[in-house]
Amino acid sequence: MDINCSEKERFVFEKIARAAAALGTQAYLIGGFVRDKLIGRPTKDADIVCAGDGIALARKVAENLSPKPAVAWFKNFGTAQIKWNDWEIEFVGARKESYRDESRKPDVEPGTIEDDQLRRDFTINAMAISLNDADYGTLIDPFDGRSDLEKKLIRTPLDPLRTFSDDPLRMLRAIRFATQLGFSIVDPAIKAITEDAHRIKIVSQERITDELNKIIMTAKPSVGFDLLYKTGLLKIIFPQMVDLAGAEYVDGMGHKDNFYHTLQVLDNIVPNTDDLWLRWAAILHDIGKPATKKFEQGHGWTFHGHEVVGSRMVPKIFNKLKLPLNEKMKFVQKLVEYHLRPISLTKENITDSAIRRLLFDAGDDIDALMTLCEADITSKNKIKVRRYLDNFELVRQRLKEVEDKDRIRNWQPPVTGELIMATFNLPPGRIVGEIKNAIREAILDGEIENNYDAASAFMLKKAAELGLPAPRS
Ligand code: ATP
Repeated sequence: MDINCSEKERFVFEKIARAAAALGTQAYLIGGFVRDKLIGRPTKDADIVCAGDGIALARKVAENLSPKPAVAWFKNFGTAQIKWNDWEIEFVGARKESYRDESRKPDVEPGTIEDDQLRRDFTINAMAISLNDADYGTLIDPFDGRSDLEKKLIRTPLDPLRTFSDDPLRMLRAIRFATQLGFSIVDPAIKAITEDAHRIKIVSQERITDELNKIIMTAKPSVGFDLLYKTGLLKIIFPQMVDLAGAEYVDGMGHKDNFYHTLQVLDNIVPNTDDLWLRWAAILHDIGKPATKKFEQGHGWTFHGHEVVGSRMVPKIFNKLKLPLNEKMKFVQKLVEYHLRPISLTKENITDSAIRRLLFDAGDDIDALMTLCEADITSKNKIKVRRYLDNFELVRQRLKEVEDKDRIRNWQPPVTGELIMATFNLPPGRIVGEIKNAIREAILDGEIENNYDAASAFMLKKAAELGLPAPRS
Protein backbone atom coordinates (compact mmCIF):
# COMPACT_ATOMS: atom_id res chain seq x y z
CA MET A 1 0.00 0.00 0.00
CA ASP A 2 1.24 3.50 -0.80
CA ILE A 3 -0.45 4.66 2.40
CA ASN A 4 -0.16 3.53 6.02
CA CYS A 5 -3.26 1.69 7.15
CA SER A 6 -4.28 0.01 10.37
CA GLU A 7 -4.95 -3.72 10.47
CA LYS A 8 -8.69 -3.15 10.55
CA GLU A 9 -8.47 -0.89 7.50
CA ARG A 10 -6.33 -3.38 5.60
CA PHE A 11 -8.76 -6.15 6.45
CA VAL A 12 -11.75 -4.22 5.10
CA PHE A 13 -9.91 -3.01 1.98
CA GLU A 14 -9.02 -6.64 1.18
CA LYS A 15 -12.69 -7.55 1.52
CA ILE A 16 -13.65 -4.71 -0.82
CA ALA A 17 -11.01 -5.86 -3.31
CA ARG A 18 -12.39 -9.43 -3.21
CA ALA A 19 -15.97 -8.20 -3.62
CA ALA A 20 -15.05 -5.98 -6.56
CA ALA A 21 -13.17 -8.85 -8.23
CA ALA A 22 -16.17 -11.14 -7.73
CA LEU A 23 -18.43 -8.56 -9.38
CA GLY A 24 -15.92 -8.08 -12.19
CA THR A 25 -15.58 -4.37 -11.41
CA GLN A 26 -12.80 -2.07 -10.24
CA ALA A 27 -12.72 -0.30 -6.90
CA TYR A 28 -10.63 2.55 -5.53
CA LEU A 29 -10.22 4.26 -2.23
CA ILE A 30 -10.54 7.98 -2.95
CA GLY A 31 -10.70 11.50 -1.57
CA GLY A 32 -10.24 12.74 1.99
CA PHE A 33 -9.14 9.37 3.39
CA VAL A 34 -6.20 9.12 0.99
CA ARG A 35 -5.30 12.79 1.51
CA ASP A 36 -5.37 12.53 5.30
CA LYS A 37 -3.33 9.31 5.38
CA LEU A 38 -0.65 10.92 3.22
CA ILE A 39 -0.29 13.88 5.57
CA GLY A 40 -0.62 11.81 8.73
CA ARG A 41 -3.89 13.41 9.79
CA PRO A 42 -6.42 11.23 11.65
CA THR A 43 -8.83 9.77 9.11
CA LYS A 44 -12.58 9.52 9.42
CA ASP A 45 -14.84 7.87 6.92
CA ALA A 46 -13.56 6.15 3.80
CA ASP A 47 -14.95 6.71 0.30
CA ILE A 48 -14.85 3.96 -2.29
CA VAL A 49 -15.50 4.63 -5.95
CA CYS A 50 -16.10 1.81 -8.39
CA ALA A 51 -16.66 1.40 -12.09
CA GLY A 52 -20.37 0.51 -12.10
CA ASP A 53 -22.88 0.16 -9.33
CA GLY A 54 -21.77 1.35 -5.87
CA ILE A 55 -24.84 -0.12 -4.19
CA ALA A 56 -24.16 -3.62 -5.55
CA LEU A 57 -20.54 -3.43 -4.38
CA ALA A 58 -21.58 -2.30 -0.87
CA ARG A 59 -23.99 -5.23 -0.62
CA LYS A 60 -21.35 -7.70 -1.71
CA VAL A 61 -18.86 -6.28 0.81
CA ALA A 62 -21.44 -6.41 3.61
CA GLU A 63 -22.07 -10.11 2.91
CA ASN A 64 -18.42 -10.85 3.62
CA LEU A 65 -18.12 -8.92 6.86
CA SER A 66 -18.96 -10.22 10.29
CA PRO A 67 -20.99 -9.04 12.04
CA LYS A 68 -22.80 -8.30 8.81
CA PRO A 69 -23.45 -4.54 8.56
CA ALA A 70 -26.67 -3.04 7.25
CA VAL A 71 -26.39 -1.29 3.91
CA ALA A 72 -28.03 2.14 3.70
CA TRP A 73 -28.52 3.05 0.07
CA PHE A 74 -29.74 6.07 -1.83
CA LYS A 75 -30.96 5.05 -5.24
CA ASN A 76 -31.20 8.60 -6.59
CA PHE A 77 -27.53 9.23 -5.92
CA GLY A 78 -26.34 5.69 -6.61
CA THR A 79 -24.54 5.69 -3.29
CA ALA A 80 -24.52 3.25 -0.39
CA GLN A 81 -23.08 3.30 3.06
CA ILE A 82 -22.10 0.68 5.56
CA LYS A 83 -21.11 1.16 9.18
CA TRP A 84 -18.74 -1.42 10.52
CA ASN A 85 -17.18 -1.22 13.97
CA ASP A 86 -17.87 2.52 14.24
CA TRP A 87 -16.39 3.12 10.84
CA GLU A 88 -18.37 4.52 7.91
CA ILE A 89 -17.56 3.46 4.40
CA GLU A 90 -19.33 5.05 1.47
CA PHE A 91 -19.61 3.47 -1.97
CA VAL A 92 -20.36 5.27 -5.18
CA GLY A 93 -20.22 4.45 -8.86
CA ALA A 94 -17.70 6.54 -10.83
CA ARG A 95 -19.45 9.55 -12.37
CA LYS A 96 -19.14 12.28 -14.86
CA GLU A 97 -21.14 15.35 -14.00
CA SER A 98 -21.77 18.94 -14.86
CA TYR A 99 -24.05 21.56 -13.42
CA ARG A 100 -26.10 23.66 -15.82
CA ASP A 101 -25.68 27.39 -15.34
CA GLU A 102 -28.44 28.40 -12.94
CA SER A 103 -29.43 24.93 -11.85
CA ARG A 104 -28.59 23.26 -8.56
CA LYS A 105 -29.16 19.79 -9.96
CA PRO A 106 -26.17 18.17 -11.60
CA ASP A 107 -26.36 16.20 -14.83
CA VAL A 108 -24.82 12.90 -13.88
CA GLU A 109 -23.86 9.95 -15.99
CA PRO A 110 -21.70 6.92 -15.33
CA GLY A 111 -18.03 7.49 -16.02
CA THR A 112 -14.58 6.04 -15.56
CA ILE A 113 -12.31 6.49 -12.55
CA GLU A 114 -10.49 9.21 -14.52
CA ASP A 115 -13.79 11.07 -15.10
CA ASP A 116 -14.53 10.77 -11.42
CA GLN A 117 -11.17 12.17 -10.41
CA LEU A 118 -11.72 15.08 -12.81
CA ARG A 119 -14.97 16.04 -11.10
CA ARG A 120 -13.30 16.19 -7.69
CA ASP A 121 -12.76 19.60 -6.18
CA PHE A 122 -9.03 19.76 -5.51
CA THR A 123 -5.94 17.89 -6.61
CA ILE A 124 -5.31 16.83 -3.01
CA ASN A 125 -8.84 15.39 -2.86
CA ALA A 126 -8.64 13.61 -6.21
CA MET A 127 -6.04 10.99 -5.32
CA ALA A 128 -7.09 7.36 -5.36
CA ILE A 129 -5.60 4.08 -4.18
CA SER A 130 -6.28 1.05 -6.33
CA LEU A 131 -8.02 -1.91 -4.71
CA ASN A 132 -7.62 -4.03 -7.84
CA ASP A 133 -5.47 -7.13 -8.18
CA ALA A 134 -3.31 -5.76 -10.99
CA ASP A 135 -1.99 -2.77 -9.01
CA TYR A 136 -3.39 -3.21 -5.50
CA GLY A 137 -2.32 -0.41 -3.13
CA THR A 138 -0.93 1.89 -5.83
CA LEU A 139 -1.57 5.62 -5.65
CA ILE A 140 -3.36 6.98 -8.73
CA ASP A 141 -2.66 10.66 -8.81
CA PRO A 142 -3.31 12.20 -12.24
CA PHE A 143 -3.06 15.83 -11.08
CA ASP A 144 -0.01 15.49 -8.87
CA GLY A 145 -1.97 16.04 -5.69
CA ARG A 146 0.92 14.52 -3.79
CA SER A 147 3.26 17.33 -4.65
CA ASP A 148 0.52 19.87 -3.86
CA LEU A 149 0.25 18.22 -0.45
CA GLU A 150 3.98 18.69 0.02
CA LYS A 151 3.82 22.28 -1.17
CA LYS A 152 0.67 22.83 0.90
CA LEU A 153 -1.38 24.06 -2.03
CA ILE A 154 -5.08 24.02 -2.80
CA ARG A 155 -5.42 23.70 -6.56
CA THR A 156 -8.30 22.55 -8.76
CA PRO A 157 -7.83 19.65 -11.21
CA LEU A 158 -9.47 21.65 -14.01
CA ASP A 159 -9.44 25.35 -14.82
CA PRO A 160 -10.69 26.80 -11.49
CA LEU A 161 -13.47 28.76 -13.18
CA ARG A 162 -14.81 25.49 -14.53
CA THR A 163 -14.45 23.57 -11.26
CA PHE A 164 -16.13 26.33 -9.25
CA SER A 165 -18.84 26.82 -11.82
CA ASP A 166 -19.75 23.11 -11.70
CA ASP A 167 -20.46 23.48 -7.97
CA PRO A 168 -19.90 26.93 -6.43
CA LEU A 169 -19.74 25.44 -2.94
CA ARG A 170 -16.20 24.42 -3.88
CA MET A 171 -15.15 28.06 -3.45
CA LEU A 172 -16.03 27.79 0.22
CA ARG A 173 -14.49 24.34 0.47
CA ALA A 174 -11.21 25.73 -0.91
CA ILE A 175 -11.17 28.29 1.89
CA ARG A 176 -12.21 25.71 4.47
CA PHE A 177 -9.43 23.27 3.49
CA ALA A 178 -6.87 26.09 3.37
CA THR A 179 -7.88 27.06 6.92
CA GLN A 180 -8.07 23.50 8.27
CA LEU A 181 -4.81 22.31 6.76
CA GLY A 182 -2.83 25.57 6.87
CA PHE A 183 -2.50 25.48 3.05
CA SER A 184 -2.48 28.32 0.49
CA ILE A 185 -4.95 28.58 -2.35
CA VAL A 186 -3.11 29.05 -5.66
CA ASP A 187 -3.51 32.49 -7.24
CA PRO A 188 -5.62 31.47 -10.26
CA ALA A 189 -8.10 29.80 -7.89
CA ILE A 190 -8.26 32.88 -5.65
CA LYS A 191 -8.84 34.98 -8.75
CA ALA A 192 -11.60 32.66 -9.94
CA ILE A 193 -13.31 32.75 -6.54
CA THR A 194 -13.13 36.54 -6.48
CA GLU A 195 -14.61 36.71 -9.98
CA ASP A 196 -17.35 34.16 -9.39
CA ALA A 197 -18.18 34.80 -5.73
CA HIS A 198 -21.74 35.84 -6.64
CA ARG A 199 -22.47 32.29 -7.85
CA ILE A 200 -22.46 31.10 -4.24
CA LYS A 201 -26.07 32.34 -4.23
CA ILE A 202 -27.25 29.21 -6.04
CA VAL A 203 -25.94 26.96 -3.28
CA SER A 204 -28.25 25.89 -0.46
CA GLN A 205 -27.83 27.73 2.83
CA GLU A 206 -27.33 24.44 4.72
CA ARG A 207 -24.25 23.54 2.68
CA ILE A 208 -22.85 27.06 3.04
CA THR A 209 -23.36 27.14 6.80
CA ASP A 210 -21.83 23.70 7.16
CA GLU A 211 -18.61 24.98 5.64
CA LEU A 212 -18.73 28.17 7.71
CA ASN A 213 -19.06 26.13 10.89
CA LYS A 214 -16.13 23.94 9.84
CA ILE A 215 -14.01 27.08 9.37
CA ILE A 216 -15.09 28.28 12.81
CA MET A 217 -14.02 24.95 14.33
CA THR A 218 -10.44 25.15 12.99
CA ALA A 219 -7.42 26.17 15.06
CA LYS A 220 -7.16 29.57 13.33
CA PRO A 221 -10.53 30.59 11.88
CA SER A 222 -9.33 34.15 11.14
CA VAL A 223 -7.46 32.76 8.13
CA GLY A 224 -10.71 31.53 6.60
CA PHE A 225 -12.71 34.65 7.42
CA ASP A 226 -10.01 36.87 5.99
CA LEU A 227 -10.09 34.87 2.75
CA LEU A 228 -13.89 34.98 2.70
CA TYR A 229 -13.69 38.74 3.15
CA LYS A 230 -11.01 39.40 0.55
CA THR A 231 -12.65 37.23 -2.12
CA GLY A 232 -16.01 38.93 -1.62
CA LEU A 233 -17.78 35.75 -0.48
CA LEU A 234 -18.39 37.07 3.03
CA LYS A 235 -20.25 40.12 1.73
CA ILE A 236 -22.71 37.75 0.08
CA ILE A 237 -23.11 35.10 2.76
CA PHE A 238 -22.75 37.20 5.92
CA PRO A 239 -22.89 40.94 5.12
CA GLN A 240 -23.32 42.03 8.75
CA MET A 241 -19.82 40.83 9.47
CA VAL A 242 -18.40 42.83 6.58
CA ASP A 243 -20.09 45.94 8.00
CA LEU A 244 -17.63 45.67 10.90
CA ALA A 245 -14.68 46.26 8.57
CA GLY A 246 -12.77 49.51 8.27
CA ALA A 247 -11.97 52.46 10.45
CA GLU A 248 -13.48 55.91 10.05
CA TYR A 249 -11.61 59.09 10.98
CA VAL A 250 -13.01 62.43 12.18
CA ASP A 251 -10.70 65.24 13.33
CA GLY A 252 -7.82 62.82 13.07
CA MET A 253 -9.50 60.42 15.50
CA GLY A 254 -10.19 56.89 14.34
CA HIS A 255 -11.62 53.78 15.89
CA LYS A 256 -10.32 50.25 15.64
CA ASP A 257 -11.25 48.03 12.70
CA ASN A 258 -13.92 45.91 14.33
CA PHE A 259 -13.72 43.17 11.71
CA TYR A 260 -10.09 42.38 12.46
CA HIS A 261 -10.72 42.88 16.15
CA THR A 262 -13.52 40.29 15.94
CA LEU A 263 -11.25 37.85 14.12
CA GLN A 264 -8.66 38.21 16.82
CA VAL A 265 -11.26 37.60 19.53
CA LEU A 266 -12.32 34.49 17.65
CA ASP A 267 -8.74 33.19 17.38
CA ASN A 268 -8.19 34.05 21.05
CA ILE A 269 -11.17 32.00 22.18
CA VAL A 270 -10.28 28.90 20.14
CA PRO A 271 -7.73 27.38 22.58
CA ASN A 272 -10.22 27.88 25.42
CA THR A 273 -13.34 26.31 23.96
CA ASP A 274 -14.49 23.68 21.48
CA ASP A 275 -18.05 24.92 21.78
CA LEU A 276 -19.22 26.09 18.38
CA TRP A 277 -21.77 28.43 19.99
CA LEU A 278 -19.28 30.16 22.23
CA ARG A 279 -17.20 30.69 19.11
CA TRP A 280 -20.28 32.16 17.41
CA ALA A 281 -20.69 34.50 20.38
CA ALA A 282 -17.12 35.68 19.78
CA ILE A 283 -17.97 36.37 16.12
CA LEU A 284 -21.13 38.26 17.03
CA HIS A 285 -20.10 40.07 20.21
CA ASP A 286 -19.60 43.43 18.46
CA ILE A 287 -22.03 42.93 15.58
CA GLY A 288 -24.14 45.87 16.86
CA LYS A 289 -21.25 48.33 16.56
CA PRO A 290 -21.84 49.63 13.03
CA ALA A 291 -25.48 50.42 13.85
CA THR A 292 -24.62 52.32 17.04
CA LYS A 293 -21.47 54.12 15.93
CA LYS A 294 -21.34 57.87 16.65
CA PHE A 295 -18.69 60.52 16.75
CA GLU A 296 -19.19 62.67 19.82
CA GLN A 297 -17.35 65.99 19.82
CA GLY A 298 -14.74 66.15 22.52
CA HIS A 299 -15.25 62.49 23.25
CA GLY A 300 -14.40 60.49 20.16
CA TRP A 301 -16.10 57.39 18.74
CA THR A 302 -18.78 55.69 20.80
CA PHE A 303 -20.84 52.54 20.32
CA HIS A 304 -23.36 53.02 23.12
CA GLY A 305 -25.77 50.13 23.48
CA HIS A 306 -24.06 48.00 20.84
CA GLU A 307 -24.36 44.97 23.07
CA VAL A 308 -28.17 45.27 23.22
CA VAL A 309 -28.54 46.10 19.52
CA GLY A 310 -26.15 43.26 18.67
CA SER A 311 -28.06 40.79 20.78
CA ARG A 312 -31.27 41.75 18.96
CA MET A 313 -29.58 41.15 15.61
CA VAL A 314 -28.71 37.56 16.46
CA PRO A 315 -32.08 35.91 15.62
CA LYS A 316 -32.16 37.46 12.15
CA ILE A 317 -28.61 36.33 11.44
CA PHE A 318 -29.27 32.83 12.77
CA ASN A 319 -32.44 32.62 10.72
CA LYS A 320 -30.69 33.69 7.52
CA LEU A 321 -27.79 31.29 8.11
CA LYS A 322 -30.21 28.49 9.04
CA LEU A 323 -28.51 28.09 12.40
CA PRO A 324 -30.79 26.63 15.09
CA LEU A 325 -33.37 29.04 16.54
CA ASN A 326 -33.31 27.35 19.92
CA GLU A 327 -31.50 27.58 23.24
CA LYS A 328 -28.14 27.72 21.39
CA MET A 329 -29.25 30.98 19.81
CA LYS A 330 -30.47 32.27 23.17
CA PHE A 331 -27.07 31.44 24.67
CA VAL A 332 -25.33 33.47 21.94
CA GLN A 333 -27.78 36.35 22.43
CA LYS A 334 -27.19 36.35 26.15
CA LEU A 335 -23.41 36.40 25.79
CA VAL A 336 -23.56 39.23 23.25
CA GLU A 337 -25.83 41.23 25.52
CA TYR A 338 -23.73 40.72 28.65
CA HIS A 339 -20.24 40.89 27.17
CA LEU A 340 -19.45 44.25 28.77
CA ARG A 341 -20.74 43.44 32.24
CA PRO A 342 -17.67 41.68 33.68
CA ILE A 343 -15.56 44.70 32.65
CA SER A 344 -17.60 46.88 34.98
CA LEU A 345 -16.74 44.44 37.76
CA THR A 346 -13.00 44.99 37.32
CA LYS A 347 -13.22 48.41 38.99
CA GLU A 348 -12.28 48.83 42.62
CA ASN A 349 -14.78 48.60 45.49
CA ILE A 350 -17.20 46.31 43.73
CA THR A 351 -19.97 45.25 46.08
CA ASP A 352 -21.16 41.69 46.56
CA SER A 353 -24.53 42.75 45.21
CA ALA A 354 -23.02 43.69 41.81
CA ILE A 355 -21.39 40.27 41.66
CA ARG A 356 -24.63 38.56 42.72
CA ARG A 357 -26.52 40.37 40.00
CA LEU A 358 -24.22 39.11 37.26
CA LEU A 359 -24.33 35.59 38.68
CA PHE A 360 -28.11 35.75 38.72
CA ASP A 361 -28.37 37.10 35.16
CA ALA A 362 -25.71 34.85 33.60
CA GLY A 363 -26.60 31.70 35.57
CA ASP A 364 -24.77 28.65 34.26
CA ASP A 365 -23.30 30.63 31.38
CA ILE A 366 -21.07 32.69 33.65
CA ASP A 367 -17.91 30.71 32.77
CA ALA A 368 -18.58 31.03 29.05
CA LEU A 369 -19.13 34.76 29.52
CA MET A 370 -15.82 35.17 31.34
CA THR A 371 -14.06 33.16 28.61
CA LEU A 372 -15.53 35.53 26.01
CA CYS A 373 -14.44 38.61 27.97
CA GLU A 374 -10.91 37.29 28.30
CA ALA A 375 -10.76 36.65 24.55
CA ASP A 376 -12.04 40.19 23.94
CA ILE A 377 -8.73 41.62 25.17
CA THR A 378 -6.86 42.35 21.94
CA SER A 379 -4.41 45.05 22.96
CA LYS A 380 -0.95 44.73 21.41
CA ASN A 381 0.57 45.96 24.66
CA LYS A 382 1.53 42.83 26.58
CA ILE A 383 1.62 44.63 29.91
CA LYS A 384 -1.95 45.87 29.42
CA VAL A 385 -3.12 42.40 28.39
CA ARG A 386 -1.58 40.92 31.54
CA ARG A 387 -3.22 43.59 33.70
CA TYR A 388 -6.67 43.07 32.15
CA LEU A 389 -6.37 39.29 32.47
CA ASP A 390 -5.34 39.64 36.11
CA ASN A 391 -8.37 41.86 36.70
CA PHE A 392 -10.67 39.24 35.20
CA GLU A 393 -8.99 36.60 37.32
CA LEU A 394 -9.96 38.66 40.38
CA VAL A 395 -13.53 38.89 39.07
CA ARG A 396 -13.56 35.11 38.64
CA GLN A 397 -12.41 34.72 42.24
CA ARG A 398 -15.08 37.09 43.52
CA LEU A 399 -17.71 35.26 41.47
CA LYS A 400 -16.63 32.01 43.04
CA GLU A 401 -16.61 33.39 46.58
CA VAL A 402 -20.06 34.95 46.25
CA GLU A 403 -21.45 31.84 44.54
CA ASP A 404 -20.05 29.59 47.28
CA LYS A 405 -21.65 31.82 49.88
CA ASP A 406 -24.97 32.70 48.27
CA ARG A 407 -25.61 30.02 45.60
CA ILE A 408 -27.03 32.53 43.15
CA ARG A 409 -26.58 30.54 39.92
CA ASN A 410 -29.91 28.84 39.18
CA TRP A 411 -31.30 30.49 42.25
CA GLN A 412 -34.98 31.20 42.82
CA PRO A 413 -36.10 33.60 45.57
CA PRO A 414 -37.39 31.75 48.67
CA VAL A 415 -40.89 33.22 48.29
CA THR A 416 -42.76 32.18 45.15
CA GLY A 417 -45.55 33.90 43.24
CA GLU A 418 -47.94 31.14 44.37
CA LEU A 419 -47.17 31.88 48.00
CA ILE A 420 -47.77 35.61 47.49
CA MET A 421 -51.14 34.88 45.83
CA ALA A 422 -52.17 32.49 48.61
CA THR A 423 -51.09 34.84 51.41
CA PHE A 424 -53.03 37.85 50.11
CA ASN A 425 -55.73 35.94 48.28
CA LEU A 426 -54.73 37.59 45.03
CA PRO A 427 -55.36 36.47 41.45
CA PRO A 428 -52.29 36.31 39.16
CA GLY A 429 -51.42 39.85 38.07
CA ARG A 430 -49.21 42.90 38.22
CA ILE A 431 -49.18 43.25 42.02
CA VAL A 432 -47.91 39.69 42.49
CA GLY A 433 -45.10 40.37 40.04
CA GLU A 434 -44.24 43.62 41.76
CA ILE A 435 -43.92 42.00 45.18
CA LYS A 436 -41.95 39.09 43.75
CA ASN A 437 -39.49 41.39 41.96
CA ALA A 438 -39.08 43.56 45.04
CA ILE A 439 -38.12 40.49 47.10
CA ARG A 440 -35.65 39.33 44.46
CA GLU A 441 -34.07 42.80 44.17
CA ALA A 442 -33.81 43.18 47.96
CA ILE A 443 -31.94 39.88 48.23
CA LEU A 444 -29.65 40.59 45.27
CA ASP A 445 -28.89 44.05 46.69
CA GLY A 446 -28.02 42.49 50.04
CA GLU A 447 -30.78 44.50 51.75
CA ILE A 448 -32.24 41.35 53.29
CA GLU A 449 -30.89 37.85 53.90
CA ASN A 450 -31.41 35.12 51.36
CA ASN A 451 -33.81 32.98 53.42
CA TYR A 452 -37.50 32.32 53.82
CA ASP A 453 -38.09 34.28 57.04
CA ALA A 454 -36.42 37.44 55.78
CA ALA A 455 -38.18 37.19 52.41
CA SER A 456 -41.55 36.56 54.02
CA ALA A 457 -41.18 39.54 56.38
CA PHE A 458 -40.14 41.70 53.43
CA MET A 459 -43.19 40.49 51.48
CA LEU A 460 -45.52 41.69 54.26
CA LYS A 461 -43.79 45.05 54.42
CA LYS A 462 -43.91 45.54 50.66
CA ALA A 463 -47.59 44.50 50.51
CA ALA A 464 -48.46 47.03 53.22
CA GLU A 465 -46.67 49.73 51.23
CA LEU A 466 -48.77 48.80 48.23
CA GLY A 467 -51.92 49.19 50.37
CA LEU A 468 -52.86 45.52 50.60
CA PRO A 469 -54.76 44.51 53.74
CA ALA A 470 -52.67 42.43 56.17
CA PRO A 471 -53.32 38.71 55.73
CA ARG A 472 -55.23 36.85 58.43
CA SER A 473 -52.83 34.58 60.29
P1 ATP B 1 -13.96 16.27 5.56
O1 ATP B 1 -14.44 14.92 5.97
O2 ATP B 1 -13.01 16.94 6.45
O3 ATP B 1 -15.06 17.18 5.12
P2 ATP B 1 -13.35 15.18 2.99
O4 ATP B 1 -12.34 15.50 1.94
O5 ATP B 1 -13.46 13.75 3.39
O6 ATP B 1 -13.04 16.07 4.24
P3 ATP B 1 -16.06 15.15 2.16
O7 ATP B 1 -16.98 16.31 2.10
O8 ATP B 1 -16.41 13.99 3.03
O9 ATP B 1 -14.67 15.78 2.50
O10 ATP B 1 -15.84 14.62 0.69
C1 ATP B 1 -15.13 13.45 0.36
C2 ATP B 1 -14.47 13.59 -1.01
O11 ATP B 1 -15.50 13.84 -2.00
C3 ATP B 1 -13.56 14.79 -1.10
O12 ATP B 1 -12.26 14.48 -0.68
C4 ATP B 1 -13.64 15.13 -2.57
O13 ATP B 1 -12.84 14.26 -3.34
C5 ATP B 1 -15.06 14.81 -2.92
N1 ATP B 1 -15.97 15.97 -2.81
C6 ATP B 1 -16.76 16.30 -1.76
N2 ATP B 1 -17.49 17.39 -2.01
C7 ATP B 1 -17.17 17.76 -3.25
C8 ATP B 1 -17.60 18.81 -4.11
N3 ATP B 1 -18.49 19.72 -3.71
N4 ATP B 1 -17.06 18.87 -5.34
C9 ATP B 1 -16.16 17.97 -5.74
N5 ATP B 1 -15.70 16.98 -5.01
C10 ATP B 1 -16.20 16.85 -3.77
